[in-house]
Amino acid sequence: MFGFNGKILKVDLNSQKIDVEVLDEKFYRKYLGGRNFGLYYLTREMSTNIDPLSPENILVFATGVTTGVPLTGFCRHSVVAKSPLTNGFGEAEAGGFWGAELKFAGFDAVAIKGASPKPVYLWVHDGEAEIRDASGLWGQLTKDTQKAIREELKDPLVRVAQIGPAGEKLVRYACIMNDLKYANGRSGLGAVMGSKNLKAIAVRGHNKLEFKDPEKIKELAKWHSENWLKHPGALARSRLGTSDGLLAMNADGILPTRNFSKGSFDHAEDISGEKMKDTILIGTEGCYACSIRCKRVVKGKPPYETDPNYGGPEYETIAAFGSLCEVSDLNAISYANQLCNAYGMDTISAGCTIAFAMECFENGVLTKDETSHIDLRFGNTEAMVKLVDMIAKREGLGDILAEGVMRASQRIGKGSEKYAMHVKGKEVPMHEPRGKTGLALQYTLSPSGADHMQAAHDPVFQANVENIKPLGIIEPVDRLSLGPDKVRLFKYLQLWWNLLDCLCVCKFVIAPHGAGVFKINHLVDIVNAVTGWNTSLLELMMASDRSISLAREFNLREGFTKEDDQLPMRFYEPLEFGPRKGARISERDLNEAISIYYGMMGWDRTGKPETVKLQELSLF
Ligand code: SF4
Repeated sequence: MFGFNGKILKVDLNSQKIDVEVLDEKFYRKYLGGRNFGLYYLTREMSTNIDPLSPENILVFATGVTTGVPLTGFCRHSVVAKSPLTNGFGEAEAGGFWGAELKFAGFDAVAIKGASPKPVYLWVHDGEAEIRDASGLWGQLTKDTQKAIREELKDPLVRVAQIGPAGEKLVRYACIMNDLKYANGRSGLGAVMGSKNLKAIAVRGHNKLEFKDPEKIKELAKWHSENWLKHPGALARSRLGTSDGLLAMNADGILPTRNFSKGSFDHAEDISGEKMKDTILIGTEGCYACSIRCKRVVKGKPPYETDPNYGGPEYETIAAFGSLCEVSDLNAISYANQLCNAYGMDTISAGCTIAFAMECFENGVLTKDETSHIDLRFGNTEAMVKLVDMIAKREGLGDILAEGVMRASQRIGKGSEKYAMHVKGKEVPMHEPRGKTGLALQYTLSPSGADHMQAAHDPVFQANVENIKPLGIIEPVDRLSLGPDKVRLFKYLQLWWNLLDCLCVCKFVIAPHGAGVFKINHLVDIVNAVTGWNTSLLELMMASDRSISLAREFNLREGFTKEDDQLPMRFYEPLEFGPRKGARISERDLNEAISIYYGMMGWDRTGKPETVKLQELSLF
């Protein structure tokens, strides 16, 4: 076997026992890795209808067969479990170095069940694994924990994936941080880790991965290093980070603002990538083997001075704490980002939940008596920062908001549901579907709730489909269509982006993303050079298809129905301000598009995969 180890660690925290499962090449070829490995264990080994925060939940950290190949973007890992936000399939991907290091340590994935009676961390190194005491680390911020673990193991290059105090306090959108600045952000998987009393997984390895065709990999690396410097999208991403498109989105009227009631923000320039570059940016960083280095390193100014070790805010974070809350202070946004990285909390859900609370306050649903006398109006920078802290510590109103907008609105009542922007319980990320309808399909049809990384965003494909012709999309599609042409575009792009999550590849480095230098067919070349499988785009897309239908099956068995494939009501109403004033999603058109999608996926009218579909995918 080339490219992977053929070994998966199985950890039972109830018995404190560790086993190694050895799997053959057929398993790797069928599932590829990432989200698919997680689904394999969730559907085979987990009982139905368990509490996501109970020991029965299974938490899987997984790499892909190509993770660790020294090429830009082949660095990520997935974490999968039943989500405490949605009660369904939960997943989150992260960049950094942790995934590659796990492969070098001799394992492709770690599957954890049970709960430890006391805080522990897992130490995985050079083909071995052990459970170690973490009592002294409980309650520590991520920076202190990482430092303590590296000192205890006497190795400054140990990579630590960990939870902070938010995960320990079971904040439902707690995340898992690695290297203090890379996050498995979404779905509340840090709370699952906290419920298991598992503080961290530390990894270190000296194993050299073997590749079938190392010369081809060198050739592909050379091609990338010669071409990315001529690629405008990659250069913009390198220069300005993920907020390179913020001003364009604002001009287009699709920058989520004031809890999604507006599509543009008067102070967008103050929170742009350009502004960051001219003010607080002090450096850039990148994940394992990446040439583009889109990660920001910032130093915020007093009173919101920040520690560069925690990195800098991504676009999602800037919009969530910025335009969505109508806050224009980039220093304060960077500080809120640092708090989230130190406490281990998803910035998208945190920002969306604070914007929800602000709208409740503006409309008299929350009063000062309920906000600890905080003046929770939109635009109040101090209030935004204060609430991040209160949520992570579950103090006062923060305790309710730590449950996420769906549960918080159920607790608060008084009509607050209409301000709760979520799908299946997961807060909506920073993209406005009323200006790109493919996103409405992503939000409603993602098995993990509102997720913007299920398919490439569609405005670009009404002008140019050159990059996606290998997927069989050869004609432009209107960005606002919800007809069969859009569903077909969405389906193939969803298959493609989910394939990248099975292989754990960064979506920014490959077509059709605007920053992507590698072309679609390069991925087939890379998988073949790594594994020697003589695979094809068809075989790889089938593995992705398997992951989508498996996730659907998982959600159905957990009680989800067709009725859960819905948007928040606000998106069916017209945008009130900005260049896209009046734009809305037609609920009827969306429901028709969803039915067409079920048919195209081989699912029945209720959204259940047909038996023949499962047979086609070798899942039955
Ligand atoms: S483009 Fe950015 S997110 Fe992707 S691998 Fe490079 S540094 Fe990481």
